[in-house]
Amino acid sequence: MSKYIINQLGENREEYFNAAIPPIFSNSNFLFSKIDDMRLAMNDNNLAFYTRGNNPTTRILEKKIAALEKTENAIGLSSGMAAISTAVLSQVKSGENMISVSQPYSGTEKLFKEVLPNYGIEVTYVDGKNPENFRKKIKKNTKAIYLESPNSWTWDMQDLEEISKIAKENKIITIIDNSYASPINCNPSSWGIDIVIHSLTKYIGGHASAMGGIICSSNEIIEKIYESEYKLLGGVLSPFNSWLFINGLRTLKIRMNYISKSTPEVVQFLERHKKIKKVIYPHSKNYNQKYLSEKYLKKPCGQFSIILNTENEDKIETFCDALCDDNTSFRMAASWGGHESLIFPELVRYNIKSKYYSETELLPKNYIRFYIGLEETKLIIKDISDSLDRI
Ligand SMILES: *Cc1c(COP(=O)(O)O)cnc(C)c1O
Repeated sequence: MSKYIINQLGENREEYFNAAIPPIFSNSNFLFSKIDDMRLAMNDNNLAFYTRGNNPTTRILEKKIAALEKTENAIGLSSGMAAISTAVLSQVKSGENMISVSQPYSGTEKLFKEVLPNYGIEVTYVDGKNPENFRKKIKKNTKAIYLESPNSWTWDMQDLEEISKIAKENKIITIIDNSYASPINCNPSSWGIDIVIHSLTKYIGGHASAMGGIICSSNEIIEKIYESEYKLLGGVLSPFNSWLFINGLRTLKIRMNYISKSTPEVVQFLERHKKIKKVIYPHSKNYNQKYLSEKYLKKPCGQFSIILNTENEDKIETFCDALCDDNTSFRMAASWGGHESLIFPELVRYNIKSKYYSETELLPKNYIRFYIGLEETKLIIKDISDSLDRI
């Protein structure tokens, strides 16, 4: 295997005129003129047969990400949620149990609470801060443990090594959503985690240009998912998006390095500001699971939350609107991981008609999630500082 993952691994340039970047194989079909050849392609998952299966552009992306995640194999899907639902459904069946860390990504939580029970799958939630909490909830029919470390919004971490030991003792599969860290800053398989998932939509794409997801694991697990839930639920990644993600991957490491310097500077500024009550960030001095962030995250990442020092809704709104004014680097958005700095104010989730968020699950109104993009750090800090001056 080539150690030159970004530029060389998985590329077959001699097959396409030595082009620097691969073509987009947007076709559905691959054509045959002999029974023998068609049968061969049907039997060998490394050969292209039909794009809801194996596509040469997507295959390049899968090989690169598997290598970055230090897993044997990977399969790309149409979104992070497609990857999560496909992976989970491949491991837990009707009448079985899965233990999940409490408060995973909001879409994941809805899937577990609203969809899985319809198919007879029971999900138990535990506070993931103590690994023993997982052991205590294991039942005879527990087949999987689902992790997200740090989890979205509250950034609580789990001890991957300890939890994977507990799982292995009990022959339970471990699954993790590793989107927060990207393959650059954490490789959960090195700590014994069986299945690693990314929303490609975030850091790997890196430019808010496409949706996708990926499942990374051993050949054995990937082949099993590939033949069944992957092909049959059919959430395949579009070859055009694969191509965008290959482009994104080429700069992933330098973007992560940039963010690893800029984000702590922004956090330090916020921590000293008297209008900020608290900053929650795995690399902050005050983070209460420092031993876990030091052990599992190679470098600081770009997301954190703040709690404003006011509960006054008008003031919260004034701050957020000012920060996302026409002349600033920030905007409000659902997602993250692109070039653009973003906030997601928890206040948005209050008083909406959508069934998606129930009021009981909401965080306080003065809670704001931040994502630091690729603008100059000085500008980002100035924009936040000016907006805080408005309240
Ligand atoms: C966005 C996100 C997802 C879902 O990914 P999509 O590509 O939007 O389906 C899952 N997990 C985390 C942590 C995310 O931020």
